Amino acid sequence: MTDQAETGFDQVLQFTVPARDARGRVVRLGPVLDTVLSAHAYPAPIRNLLAEALALTALLGALLKDDDGQLTMQAQTQDGVVDLLVCDYRGGELRGYVRHDRARLDELGPHPSLHALFGDGYLAITFDLSSSDQRYQGIVPLEGDSLARACESYFFQSEQVPTLIRVSVHSEGGRTVAGALLVQHLPDGEEGRERLHARLDHPEWEHVAALAGSLTPAELTDPQLGLENLVWRLFHEESEVRVARGLPLTRGCRCSAEHYRELLARFGEAQRAEMANDDGLIVVDCAFCSKEFPLRFD
Ligand SMILES: [Zn+2]
Repeated sequence: MTDQAETGFDQVLQFTVPARDARGRVVRLGPVLDTVLSAHAYPAPIRNLLAEALALTALLGALLKDDDGQLTMQAQTQDGVVDLLVCDYRGGELRGYVRHDRARLDELGPHPSLHALFGDGYLAITFDLSSSDQRYQGIVPLEGDSLARACESYFFQSEQVPTLIRVSVHSEGGRTVAGALLVQHLPDGEEGRERLHARLDHPEWEHVAALAGSLTPAELTDPQLGLENLVWRLFHEESEVRVARGLPLTRGCRCSAEHYRELLARFGEAQRAEMANDDGLIVVDCAFCSKEFPLRFD
């Protein structure tokens, strides 16, 4: 039995390669992923899609400097087999769901492509920084073969930051593990967001991207390979690699009867009467938890 530190499950590791102006994050989701997935009875292709999206959400969430900030990833289409995927991250808490048409999904077979699932969709990535009330949102088309590719184009198009992202999902014996790696080139330091001259052919970046790109999908999900060891394996020839642990990852949702009661209390009595069913209950459901909250107001 290996402990959590060794498996890397539900952890984030931050790293920088100072001499190359590169920074990165690596995450591995284990039990937290099973907990999120267990709230939904999704078929395998949707489970895999959500696992990939959650690993990316944890990865991008780990870029927030602000522990109270929130990262939201939303993929959407008009009439796709999947019409909505939502995941978010706040303070290490992850949650997510996928709204989809089960009958149309079954016609696609066991390994549908991203385009088969979404059609012509788009991906919106939103960083909410609680300390400054600032919000950055970028929207990119859902092109390429995976959500990871779409996230890479988000960084290049919206933030002008060359970014390499790898994601791997592995399911076995009813358990799912997802791992994800992000590496970015920030020649202006960690802070700069306004970059006018992003270059994908910068020699330092080409070098870092080649090293990071040598990672295999199996390494990302291998519980025998801890996250520090994984980063070391990629960058051990560099003069210096700094690593730091990010917040531990958990499954979390803000839904509760009290939360919805407070929200609904802001409506007028007449509006609440319209929302109520024949039994006088307002039924609110949390799509993240697949759970209903019947509320009565007297
Ligand atoms: Zn919930």
